[in-house]
Amino acid sequence: MPPKYSLIIPIYNEAETIAELYRRVASLMERLDDSVELILIDDGSQDTSLEIIRNLHQQDSRVCYLSFARNFGHQIAVTAGLHFARGQAIVVLDADLQDPPELIPDLIEKWRQGYQVVYAQRTVRRRENWFKRFTAYTFYRILQRLADVNIPADTGDFCLMDRQVVDALNAIPEQNRYIRGLRAWVGFKQTAVRFEREPRFAGTVKYTFRKSLRLAINSIISFSRIPLQLATYLGLFAAGVALLMALLVLYWRLFESGSRLIGFAAIAIAVLFLGAVQLVCIGILGEYIGRIYEEVKGRPLYIMREIAGFPQPAECSPSQAETQH
Ligand code: UDP
Ligand code: MG
Repeated sequence: MPPKYSLIIPIYNEAETIAELYRRVASLMERLDDSVELILIDDGSQDTSLEIIRNLHQQDSRVCYLSFARNFGHQIAVTAGLHFARGQAIVVLDADLQDPPELIPDLIEKWRQGYQVVYAQRTVRRRENWFKRFTAYTFYRILQRLADVNIPADTGDFCLMDRQVVDALNAIPEQNRYIRGLRAWVGFKQTAVRFEREPRFAGTVKYTFRKSLRLAINSIISFSRIPLQLATYLGLFAAGVALLMALLVLYWRLFESGSRLIGFAAIAIAVLFLGAVQLVCIGILGEYIGRIYEEVKGRPLYIMREIAGFPQPAECSPSQAETQH
């Protein structure tokens, strides 16, 4: 009998938090009305996380785990968890206890009411520095303006999804996976549960500024074609300015005696401005072409070095074969 609930937790160098995480998740699992599987995905940790996970699996048969051959990133770790989950309701949460497991009964309650995606929306980010809060705030608002689908602001990957939604996500062959976006894209009946985001339990942030920036760029490129149109708009703007300048120069030549043309500085600025505009536009094109290149290569999303706790790897992940090309 497959379990009713699956909990998916991606783990990257979280040795300090796993014990406490397990303690809180285990006490939550006792309170749930039905069977649960806990899927831990080791995203190529370099610390002792994998050993700790192995021990947990030995102590508790509800714990199953996947371990990647290297660090493939948080979104891919969650994707792998979704491929392997067998439950009817699937919950994704972070390992650092910033997503409180105690909120899960509330998510389940909404699921029982008929919602197929219940995402947790952050009301406050306690003790995260102003820079992170400011960048996160601005990013979510920019994304909402640009994206083709409405991706709710201030939501992370912490959510509950119905089996049907997870099947739909697993059928998406895209390499570049921005789960929050894809989750909004598939549709279904969605609702939010609001919560306060706690500070990290222990350890340091695994999403470095570089990783966060990459995720932000990826999400915009995956869900919007507006940046591609930027070249057109900037081109039209530059053409307008050029026309205006031409008319102005003509006027000065015809109707004013002393020359007002200041020469070098104006020309240098114009040349630099146009050069900058062109380079930015080429950069944007490059981002999209790079994405096409990634998709065309069609490499597997992840490489596994260890799997344990699942009845039979081939049998439990029917969607994996399709998705992994
Ligand atoms: N994580 C991962 N792979 C990575 C980076 C992070 O699996 O390359 C996991 C990490 O262990 C944690 C979650 O993703 O469970 C969120 O990471 P973190 O708390 O560092 O980022 P935040 O979202 O809080 O900024
Ligand atoms: Mg965190």
